[in-house]
This record gives sequence, C-alpha cells and structure tokens, in this order.
Amino acid sequence: MQICVIGTGYVGLCSGVGLAAKGNQVACVGRNKDKIAGIQQGIPPIFEGGLQELLQEVLRNGLFRATDDFAGAVKEAEATFLCVGTPSGKDGRIDLTEMRQAAAQVGEALPDGYCVVVVKSTVVPGTTEEMIRILEERSGRKAGKDFGVCMNPEFLREGRALQDFLQPDRVVVGQLDPRSGDVLQRLYAPFQAPILRTDLKTAEMIKYASNSLLATKISFANEVGNLCKQLGIDTYAVMGGVGLDHRIGPHFLRAGVGFGGSCFQKDVSALKSLAEDQGVPAPLITDVLEVNRRQRFKIIDLLERRLPVNGKTIAILGLSFMGGTDDIRESPALDIIPALLQKGAAVRAYDPQATRHVRPLFPQVTYCASAREALAGADACLLLTEWEEFRSLTDQDFSGMRSPVILEGRRMLDRSKVSRFEGICW
Ligand code: NAD
Repeated sequence: MQICVIGTGYVGLCSGVGLAAKGNQVACVGRNKDKIAGIQQGIPPIFEGGLQELLQEVLRNGLFRATDDFAGAVKEAEATFLCVGTPSGKDGRIDLTEMRQAAAQVGEALPDGYCVVVVKSTVVPGTTEEMIRILEERSGRKAGKDFGVCMNPEFLREGRALQDFLQPDRVVVGQLDPRSGDVLQRLYAPFQAPILRTDLKTAEMIKYASNSLLATKISFANEVGNLCKQLGIDTYAVMGGVGLDHRIGPHFLRAGVGFGGSCFQKDVSALKSLAEDQGVPAPLITDVLEVNRRQRFKIIDLLERRLPVNGKTIAILGLSFMGGTDDIRESPALDIIPALLQKGAAVRAYDPQATRHVRPLFPQVTYCASAREALAGADACLLLTEWEEFRSLTDQDFSGMRSPVILEGRRMLDRSKVSRFEGICW
C-alpha cells in the first residue's frame, strides 16, 4: 500500500519504517531539511534500538523515503497517518496546534481518488471529529464519502519501539465508517495481532485509559514499595508474588524513582482535565501524578539521610527517561539534577545516549564518557535509568568513589557484584 506518514519523531519514524518493513511503500514527511537528509542517508535523528539498521534496509529496498514535500506525499497515498506531537499545554490539556496545522495541510493536498486520513497521535475523545471538520473545510470534500478517516492509537514503548510496532498486542482501528476501517484492516492484516474495530471516540479513549492504567500501576507499586522499605520487606519479592496472579500480571509493578517520558504524564494530565471539563470527579487519576512527582524527590531525601549534599560531588547514572532511548522528556533526572545543584552539590553525569540533549539544559554539570568516569571522585551515586550496561557494574567500577553511598532509583545492581548499595524502595 502507498503510505504517507506526517512526522518523523519517535512514532512517525518508527511507524513509517515498520510499515515499510512490512512491504508498503512509505513516504515520511518532516519539516527539517537536515533531519530529512540524515534519514535519507540512513541516520535516524533519534536513538531507538534496531531503527538505524531497519531504516537502512528499507531505504536499500526502495520501500521508504523521507521528504519535505508534504503535498506530494499526501497526493500519492492511500492512507496518510498523522503522527505529529500533541504536547501538554500549560493547563494539562493537550496542545493541538501541530494537529490542526497538519490536518489543514492534508486537507489542502488530498488526492482526487479515495484515501484514508488516520490520526495516530494521542488525542482526547472528540479531537478526530474536529480534524474531520478541518479536513472537510480545507478540501471542500465530504468525509465518509470522498475520503475516509480512522483513529489508530499507537501503543509502542520507546526503547522497544520497533518491536512493539511490528508485534503489537492489539491494533485498535477507530473508524468513521466501515470503508475507512477496511483500509487499515488490510494494512494491518500481516501483523498477526487482534484488530479491534471501534468508533473514533472509543479508539481515542482506549489509548488514554491504557496509559492511565499503566501509570496507576507504577504509582501503586511505588506506594507499596515505600511502605515495604519502611517495614524492611523486599518489595520486588512482594510484587513477584502479586504479579503471578493472572488477573494482575507481572508488568509495571517495578517500584523506583517513578515514570517519566513524553506520554504518561501528558496523557494522565489530559485525562484529568477531560474529567474536570466534563464535571466528572477523577481523584484516582489526580493522585497518580502526585505520587509520581513526590517519588522523584525521595531519592534526594534518602541521599540527605546518608550525607549533607552541600559541597559534595554526586554522580548521576542515567539521564534518559528509560533505558534504550535518548528521549529525556519528563525524565526524573531533569528534576533531580537542578535540585542537587540548588543544594550546592557538584554533579557528574553519564548516559549512553542522552547526554547531548541534557548538556544544553545544565551546562554546569560534568558529562562523562562512562559510568566509571562519572563515579571517579564522587561522594555518592544515584542510578536513575534502566540501561542494561548498569547491570554489569561491579565493586571495581565504584572503587574510585570518595565514599560508597550508592543509591538505586531503578533496581539494577547485582548483590554478588556490588557489595554495598541501597534502593529507593528496597
Ligand atoms: P515527536 O515530538 O517525537 O514527533 C512529532 C514530529 O512531528 C516532530 O518531528 C515534528 O517536527 C513533526 N511535525 C509536526 N507538525 C508537522 C508538520 N506539519 N509536518 C511535518 N512534520 C510535523 O512526538 P512523538 O513522541 O513521535 O509522538 C507523536 C504522537 O504519538 C503524540 O501524540 C504522542 O502522544 C503519541 N505517542 C507517542 C509515543 C512515544 O512513546 N513517543 C507512544 C505512543 C503514542
């Protein structure tokens, strides 16, 4: 199928490359000429495991191209996916500026024949209907007759984005009408995943309910973890037992420094605002965010119980919001570093991929090329991101520290390799 993807960010690029890997002809539309040139040469502007290799393969096969010719790419496509950003506005509601602009551009470029416009960005219920009004206004055509519309939320996780895109648990296809949905049913048929067909608003809500439930599980695990720490109980053993119950499942029960990333905070905030707008009380959702906010600073409380921070050097291991990605949006490190600096600490930091994004935000931090280098001369270490390489750290790596205050915000270190450390909830 001829596909156009608007947006070359995490979702746009991974979806575009993934759809090309399934044999479709994909044009990914971006706005930045340098980024497009890089993608065309097989260099993704983001770090995501396996993306560079697969991008190079689909470029070689002639199944994928990146372009800034918005209208040209839309005109050729049987399905155009909107994968633009929907960031949090100041009040927690999503900012639809990019969506409205992209929908207007798509409307002006719709092909003469039938095509389907697909909203893949995460948007609150009712937004796709607003996009339909923009598409109709700009094209002078009628949705459901001259062109189709679907809402197809994306559930990929950064760090495992390609794997999640190519092997999804389910594909949700919200459809304006059966003809629109049939196009996506055909596109996703080779994915061997259950395809759930719904109306547009249901598809929009499934994404918010899913992300809010996942965020709730994490905040719940953190509350239980804080209590376990107080009682001297291993919360990971507890959640291991809890997760064996098939009604609960083992995932998203890992206590730690809390969730970050572009999605959970933004999506839970948007759902909270939506509930407020509708006059429907949603205290649980509100507390999920508050528990998460407080959890970040617990590691500083723990640190201050071990040593006075003022004048000390603190090593930070991990800057991205999770392992496997260079994305720093809402990363715990972005709250923890300024809090440490404000308390008079010097900070040394190491991350395998995200340093280039954090450096401009905190130029006063010393950025290091390895964990061992960051640890050298440090009075304490805070491990904040689940990067696989941190699992293999040993006493030898920590031996250059001035004092052995090693605090984990993510459960990573191995007791048989590192003799003294303490976890935020363990
Ligand atoms: P992103 O900020 O990484 O990418 C958005 C891209 O869209 C940017 O590169 C931007 O330049 C581009 N863009 C905006 N307007 C454009 C236009 N008119 N023409 C061409 N390009 C345009 O965002 P993302 O993380 O990829 O997220 C995109 C959407 O998917 C959001 O709604 C997000 O909530 C949702 N989502 C994200 C994830 C994730 O893990 N990142 C997972 C599932 C869903």
